[in-house]
Amino acid sequence: MTSDFALSSPLVPRVSEKDAKALQYIEEITRNAATFQETVLAEILSRNANSEYLQRYKLGGATDRETFKLKLPVITYEDIKPDIQRMADGDRSAVLLASPISEFLKSSGTSSGEQKLFPSTQEELDRRHFQISLLRAVMNSCVPDLDKGKGLYFLFVRPETRTPGGLLVRPASNGMYKSDHFKTRLHDYTSPIEAILCADSFQSMYTHMLCGLLEREQVLRLGALFASGLLRAMRFLQIHWQALANDIETGTLNQKITDPSIRDCMARILKPRPELAELIRMECSEENWEGIIARIWPNTKYLDAVATGSMAQYIHLLDYYSGSLPIASMVYSSSECFFGLNLNPMCKTSEASYTIMPNMAYFEFLLHDPGSPASTSDFQPPKLVDLVDVEVGKEYEPIITNYTGVYRYKVGDILRVAGFHNASPHFHFVRRKDALLSIDYDKTDEADLQKAVENASRLLREFDTRILEYTSYAEKKTNPGHYVIYWEILVKDPANSPTDNVLKQCCLAMEESLDSAYREARVVDKTIGPLEIRLVKTGTFEELMDYAISRGASINQYKVARCVGSTSILKLLDSRVISKHFSPSLPHWTI
Ligand code: AMP
Repeated sequence: MTSDFALSSPLVPRVSEKDAKALQYIEEITRNAATFQETVLAEILSRNANSEYLQRYKLGGATDRETFKLKLPVITYEDIKPDIQRMADGDRSAVLLASPISEFLKSSGTSSGEQKLFPSTQEELDRRHFQISLLRAVMNSCVPDLDKGKGLYFLFVRPETRTPGGLLVRPASNGMYKSDHFKTRLHDYTSPIEAILCADSFQSMYTHMLCGLLEREQVLRLGALFASGLLRAMRFLQIHWQALANDIETGTLNQKITDPSIRDCMARILKPRPELAELIRMECSEENWEGIIARIWPNTKYLDAVATGSMAQYIHLLDYYSGSLPIASMVYSSSECFFGLNLNPMCKTSEASYTIMPNMAYFEFLLHDPGSPASTSDFQPPKLVDLVDVEVGKEYEPIITNYTGVYRYKVGDILRVAGFHNASPHFHFVRRKDALLSIDYDKTDEADLQKAVENASRLLREFDTRILEYTSYAEKKTNPGHYVIYWEILVKDPANSPTDNVLKQCCLAMEESLDSAYREARVVDKTIGPLEIRLVKTGTFEELMDYAISRGASINQYKVARCVGSTSILKLLDSRVISKHFSPSLPHWTI
């Protein structure tokens, strides 16, 4: 095993004492990954020995790995949903974990159409904050002088709700931005806390951008949680640069910004700066957006956003806007677990990999090999390997046991082992196991799409029309991107075929049926455009099959792919399109 950590090189920039300690800590936990894993598991099991869940599986207070693996099943969300529901409804007993929970973390993933909720505690949030602080040390060790400037970060809170039992429900990022840890770091950002905590996404984005423009020369990095967020910010600049330049010229804040706390704080910051306004107008008025980041924020050293997995599709657009600045994709994390950090963040984005932090949870890995019975059969117990035993080049699904009441939970991501940092593996994120379509943080799987098509098809009944075949495509060339669903339909009576209006309603019916993450992105964030149905000529899907067979597919095994990506297949489909129909309005969405 080798340590390929950039920090072990003698060429690493000098780091502060605090950063050196953080880096040393990373070395220590990754070097002793096996011991940390054993300790973490024992700690989780002993703390929660009296929880109903562990008693249900008769763990009998055991804290060793063997008993744990023997007695506890590998589960999905469906298995713990009733327990979570009880907790959400107000059961304060030790259902899944012994300590009281402080909130539920809301995942963008769904289970049977409902948003997944994971219990969390203050201690867990602190643990996550600590990991983020390690990340800063890693970054400082790779890029010198980051403390000499600021970051323009497009950070947003999302709506918060409460369960029937009164517990807070929010994404993990909300907790982070509202924490005291975060407040101590605010001087690193161009945005005031008021901009981050404003629930109105337009006002929040406007203020982020305005402050970023005002401090353009101090900006050393631009960031967002995900690559899609950075792109959204760039599109916002394209649309609103005139209003922003106007505010900067006059030193007054746009009337559309009504949030009193933002108005108060901007009144302190905004002063007339006609030269800056002129520069922004000059850069933006030509509508040449290539390299705009490097032109407006000339000292930017890198972009900071997750750009792996479904976000990899946006790398080329970010390259376009930034003039190919490095993109640091730094964290792999989810509502159920903080997995790891990219310890070599300035590597090529397509090569980014995340080192699992062995103190965050107990990690097991299920070999992902579609041909192997271990991962396909329901009858054989799955073969799980421990963190330190995964093999380079192989693909796995992580199974986590965390401090907050989730035991042997299948995460649903597919990761490939890229190598080891000391004794802890680092993984490439390959893909989400079941996701078919994704534009932003939405993850629509085959079952979701099937249900949506079925719901829409009901509207065709009165026209005696059936959907013969369908497939889909996430169209990202439009702004914003949108779902395209290709339909081949059978119309019994051409004199009574469904009208454009009916097909538009079918688009809306599909959107209504998609999960709340899709509808939230569509309605609240507006990062997904209206769903489109493209009707194709009769026989198109036959042609598609012929095409696949001509390329080596077996006729016996051929199945229509419910999502297509290849340019040649899209070309074939698009050449057979007879009409296009778009959703006429927004689907419903409530918090
Ligand atoms: P959520 O629970 O809504 O935070 O979503 C977590 C999911 O987002 C993970 O299970 C992954 O599928 C995806 N995700 C998180 N971090 C990354 C990353 N660095 N690269 C690719 N996908 C990620």
